[in-house]
Amino acid sequence: MSAASRPLTILGATGSIGVSTLSVAAHLGIPVHAVTANRKVDELAALAIQHRAAVAVVADEDGYTELKRLLAGTGVVAEAGAQALCAVAADPGCGAVVTAIVGAAGLHPTLAAIRAGKRVCIANKEPLVMAGALIMGEAARCGATILPVDSEHSAIFQCLEGHRPDEVAELVLTASGGPFRTVADLGAVTREQALRHPTWTMGPKITIDSATLMNKSLEIIEARWLFGVGVERIRVLIHPQSVVHSMVAYRDGSVMAQLGRPDMRTPIQYALTWPRHDSGQVAAPDFAALAALTFEAPDTARFPSLDMAYAAARAGGIAPAVMNAANEMAVARFLAGHGRFTDIFTTVERALGDAPSLGEPSLDDIIAADAEVRRRLAG
Ligand code: NDP
Repeated sequence: MSAASRPLTILGATGSIGVSTLSVAAHLGIPVHAVTANRKVDELAALAIQHRAAVAVVADEDGYTELKRLLAGTGVVAEAGAQALCAVAADPGCGAVVTAIVGAAGLHPTLAAIRAGKRVCIANKEPLVMAGALIMGEAARCGATILPVDSEHSAIFQCLEGHRPDEVAELVLTASGGPFRTVADLGAVTREQALRHPTWTMGPKITIDSATLMNKSLEIIEARWLFGVGVERIRVLIHPQSVVHSMVAYRDGSVMAQLGRPDMRTPIQYALTWPRHDSGQVAAPDFAALAALTFEAPDTARFPSLDMAYAAARAGGIAPAVMNAANEMAVARFLAGHGRFTDIFTTVERALGDAPSLGEPSLDDIIAADAEVRRRLAG
């Protein structure tokens, strides 16, 4: 069986990445083993039936009765709960797993897929930020193949193919700059403005993360673990057109870039078909129609999130998990209509300032640190 035809489990199938993944799977003819969601049982059942999944899992157990009713007589097995998420990620019936849950909730199922030695296509970056050393260690120990789905990391992965880490001068992560790239007063921006991303259509949490540049901060740490390059050699460059998805600068002054339209089906497909570039659904950019490709340095005074990522990465231990948990809580609060946009920065900064230092935290230490931040910020 070729890599691209292994049955697929999609964790977070009802979300933006999940739906794009199902579109890619249908295009490539990859069978779907399992689909999962948190609460949206109607959408989950419809996707499971449409894509002939063997299993559908709703994470919130309150949704089980309804999911079972919706799937009665369809041949799709209904499951519920956190254990069931891990079970479908590790099931021998699937060969590849796309992790498209949003936030820290994806940590356990991601680890389950890795421990089962799957091809693990990672969109859900938050677990890597929290526990990158442990995740990469488990992948090596269990023979899992980790492939990036994030467009920037897919770009870097492609630019690195055939090269050795010691040839690399720096990794250059491009960022659109979000909707507020040129807005002077971030204190006054609204939730609706923050949810209007200029180039990408994504779920609400990552859309806010893109507006604060916290998404790029998470990506700095994600890149650090995926590619084994220290954060001092990872640089962020604003590129509003989102055509150059990222670059690798080599020691001889040569720079490799990967380009494409801002459409997640391209990096999703490459994670599924790697090492092949097969026929896809997305056309190459029309360069003659592009007015310009521009680049500028990020404004770290207006967007302090970038410096927080470097500080958290340098501190190591539980600091990145604390940064991530505080950001998740602050973004949820802002999305719920409370507080100002800039409160996200102050919340994360304060949480990082309060974080105790821990040399090499265990998984339990990381989970406890995550829970403690959420408890404090919920109070
Ligand atoms: P969405 O919000 O669109 O989808 C999230 C998915 O996760 C949904 O299926 C949701 O289920 C499920 N989910 C949410 N909370 C839980 C939980 N507690 N337990 C189990 N499942 C849960 O997110 P995106 O698709 O935008 O993003 C997913 C991940 O991919 C994020 O980590 C993001 O950073 C990353 N990513 C996204 C990109 C994009 O273009 N969207 C690009 C690159 C990376 P339900 O529908 O029931 O709520």
